[in-house]
Amino acid sequence: MADKKTDDNNQLTPLHYLMWFRRDLRIDDNTALSALCDKAQKDRAHVSAVFFMTPKQWQQHDTAVTQVDFIARRLPHLAQALKDKLNITLTVAVCDTFDDCAEILTQLCIDTDVTCVMANHEYEENEINRDTQLIANLAEHNISVIRHHDQCVLPPASITTGEGTMYKVFTPFYKKWQQHLDVSPMSCHSPTLVNENTPAPVTSLAEALTKKVTHADSKSSIDTLTKDIVNAYQDDWQKRDALKHINIAEQLARTRDNYPADMDAPEARLHDFISDDIDDYDTHRDTPHSHATSRLSAYLTTGMISPRRCYLAAIEHLERKRSNKDSDETDITRWCSELAWRDFYRHVLCDKPELIRHEAYNKKLDKAVDWSYDEDDFAAWCCGRTGVPLVDAAMRCLNATGFMHNRLRMVVAMFLTKDLLIDWRWGETYFVQNLIDGDFVSNNGGWQWSASTGTDSAPYFRIMNPFSQGKSHDKDALFIKKWLPELADVPADVLHSEAKLNKAFGDKDKEEKKKDKNKQKDKKQDNPYYDIDYPAPIVDHKAARKDTIATFKDSK
Ligand code: FAD
Repeated sequence: MADKKTDDNNQLTPLHYLMWFRRDLRIDDNTALSALCDKAQKDRAHVSAVFFMTPKQWQQHDTAVTQVDFIARRLPHLAQALKDKLNITLTVAVCDTFDDCAEILTQLCIDTDVTCVMANHEYEENEINRDTQLIANLAEHNISVIRHHDQCVLPPASITTGEGTMYKVFTPFYKKWQQHLDVSPMSCHSPTLVNENTPAPVTSLAEALTKKVTHADSKSSIDTLTKDIVNAYQDDWQKRDALKHINIAEQLARTRDNYPADMDAPEARLHDFISDDIDDYDTHRDTPHSHATSRLSAYLTTGMISPRRCYLAAIEHLERKRSNKDSDETDITRWCSELAWRDFYRHVLCDKPELIRHEAYNKKLDKAVDWSYDEDDFAAWCCGRTGVPLVDAAMRCLNATGFMHNRLRMVVAMFLTKDLLIDWRWGETYFVQNLIDGDFVSNNGGWQWSASTGTDSAPYFRIMNPFSQGKSHDKDALFIKKWLPELADVPADVLHSEAKLNKAFGDKDKEEKKKDKNKQKDKKQDNPYYDIDYPAPIVDHKAARKDTIATFKDSK
């Protein structure tokens, strides 16, 4: 590809390169950005940057409002930091779908004499199709597109079996992943200043976009534009009947408090986690009430922090401990193994792209199971009204905060797929609609793990008992009572026992009895929880477990 261009008068036009930001909204340790800045310095090229907001596409993907808002809040900060640190102007443009995006980007490159576009790989099917289309469009104009692997600690296809195939099971994958990192340690790169003494392009991105699409290219104008997009997105999202029970204003207010989007926020969170919590991670990570995990997932999903940075910070901490003769490494290595799970699912997706179409990894088993599509059961699960306190508390926490603890994700996913036998795809979609960290790959991996249709997933006969999970991980029911205030006066031993819950709340014909004043009085004397508006468990766990195991067994 030619890197130099001449205009109509045979004058050399300044070289112009373009950084296309996607789910990599950071400057530090951004592989494509660093590579582009290096190349630009060598070639004396000018660098511009672009980000496309694609609200219609996000709607089709069911992206949560909180995540759209999180990205929107980040963009003005990213624009300012790019200007201050690298002298690069970020232009934020709005186009509906990925198809529009490929078309507009092609024209933009032509109009502004861009000869090289740099970006980081995205692994989902629509994104791959968009990139393939764009690469073909741009090749016709002699414009190169260079993509880098950046989303994982180690890139897809780098960890394979002796036969060169993808691992189906996590443990050997993790061993090899760890070995690889021991032998070839990584480092993180920061890009260096560009656009100094480099002539700017004749036409800027903003000039080329004028009259074509809505756009902005200063901190304050990006702030205004992104807020407008979030408001419109929120209005559309709220029109969905299935999400009417969610107070979106509350969800947004909480995520804005809990997830600051300024440039320093992810690094500060990583630092706090390493200083305060990582040394107890293995002990406390399964206790939802204790806030013992990093809560970095939303930053990793949107690329506001690099997974390599997270891994290296943990390893540096490990080295410090070793030099202080502290030999307990379990907590740190456990946390690193979670980053490896994130890599594992991405590597699996690259090996089996059809997963993106919500196809199961184990298609045969998935097809053979007679999944339920009972809308009432599903609505009870979504709203946190199943009568199973840990499940309901977890769902109400998700609905209110846009986040759910990992242990609870497993519990509610297993309950939906194994106790209610509802198709895992319904739960998968509901999660993405509400999670600020909603990420197709990890979410699909987690759901298929729970439904036993995935790679290295929970064996179908190992079904979590949501009552004993409550007893083990929320012994005093602190988490349950926080999210189900109506149960504040019910003792933990009742909340963790299916039989006691049935006794307390199982009066199915309560309404009838209410009419009969005498019977109601008797009932109140027998049952102190009679007046509490909380349902009895909607399913008998033991019976459901037995039926589900039989269904899966027959399906095999
Ligand atoms: P930590 O415990 O501090 O872990 C550090 C990082 O490791 C996380 O931020 C995350 O990036 C990664 N990680 C941890 N556990 C897993 C895992 N099981 N699989 C893949 N990566 C992991 N994670 C998402 O980021 N987005 C999702 O949409 C998502 N959906 C899930 C759905 C289900 C049904 C299940 C069981 C898990 C899902 N997870 C998802 C994985 C996990 O629950 C979250 O990453 C974790 O709860 C985030 O909290 P944290 O950042 O405090 O994690």
